[in-house]
Amino acid sequence: MRLAVLKERRAGETRVAATPETVKKLVALGLAVAVESGAGLASGLPDAQYREAGAEIAPDAASTLAGAGIVLKVRAPLARGEGERDELSLIPRGALLIGTLDALSDAGRARAYAEAGIDACSMELLPRITRAQSMDVLSSQANLAGYRAVVEGAGAFDKGFPMLMTAAGTIPAANVFVMGAGVAGLQAIATARRLGGRVSATDVRPAAKEEIKSLGASFVGYEDAESQAAQTAGGYARQLSAEFYAKQAEVVAAHVVKQDVVICTALVQGRKAPTLLTAEMVAGMKPGSVVVDIAADAGGNCALTVPGESITTEGGVKILGHRNWPGRIPAAASSLYARNLLTFLTTFWDKEAGAPKLPAEDEIIRGVALTRAGAVIHPQLQTAG
Ligand code: NAD
Repeated sequence: MRLAVLKERRAGETRVAATPETVKKLVALGLAVAVESGAGLASGLPDAQYREAGAEIAPDAASTLAGAGIVLKVRAPLARGEGERDELSLIPRGALLIGTLDALSDAGRARAYAEAGIDACSMELLPRITRAQSMDVLSSQANLAGYRAVVEGAGAFDKGFPMLMTAAGTIPAANVFVMGAGVAGLQAIATARRLGGRVSATDVRPAAKEEIKSLGASFVGYEDAESQAAQTAGGYARQLSAEFYAKQAEVVAAHVVKQDVVICTALVQGRKAPTLLTAEMVAGMKPGSVVVDIAADAGGNCALTVPGESITTEGGVKILGHRNWPGRIPAAASSLYARNLLTFLTTFWDKEAGAPKLPAEDEIIRGVALTRAGAVIHPQLQTAG
């Protein structure tokens, strides 16, 4: 069976869905791997390394995809009108497509896969269960995003993170505040602590409070009966009431004026990111302070964030609103993402058939499978009509 790895063409995407390391293992499964020329370049992986690992290097998307039974992607393939090339129309009928296809934000996407006869799996929908941890693309990428956010925040901050005691005097440690203590936020806390910052953090899920403390940061937040039930069965934060957010904002406003660097990571699944830092709060921050908003792809946690841009406010506060934070650390992000996909494929690999076997009743497959044999099968897409 032929497996195709395409070059990512969406704006700003630097990652790749397979690395020479994973290609070697895919070849060992018995797959003929085709990699589009230049697919790994933005992650520091030249064609020669893929060739050495046993892949065929194909010159363009069409030749890479010709005859493919499996297609590995980071982002959804470009459809007609979406960019320089219609990748979707080049994917053979019956192929299995695996990637972070962002399927719930655009129901038309799954319908297009069904019409094209493509069996698609959208990896961001993977259930957050122990068995799925090693395939969890959201976790692997969020972890790196949290790290990168602190490193870039430290770079943009014109003082240091650690307390520096020198013969010329002392520079105090930076106050770093992490908003949202999920996978990205916990890594941000750990990274800011390693750099010597004085770290505090907030979250709405009760379980997060202990996790924040166990990493040596102080917890800042508003808690009430509503926040006690803020976590869904899937482990995510719920959308909370306007009254709760107003109380939370009071606590945040009092804390944020004392902060040098604020790392925003708060998300509510399937919704716009909650606004936790208002323009007024930013106006109260010291000049030279830095806000790093890694929720920018979901609209941002800061009201002044311009997704995709870095700005400085009139009050001298820098707001880094880049999109695709994992893509800002591409070699590591590709390495972990590629391993996630490899684990998914090997977990559902039928050795005898030399092909993947995705049992519809498996909890993981129920979570990720969008389409099967020409029909949209994902429960969340069917109820959405
Ligand atoms: P996420 O990216 O959806 O959100 C980031 C954080 O923002 C969350 O901690 C959330 O509670 C927080 N948040 C939302 N609204 C907020 C607000 N108003 N103020 C402050 N914080 C707010 O979350 P995630 O990183 O994907 O993690 C989600 C959950 O999944 C966590 O409980 C995590 O422990 C769990 N998880 C489990 C596994 C596993 O068992 N396999 C793997 C990864 C994550």
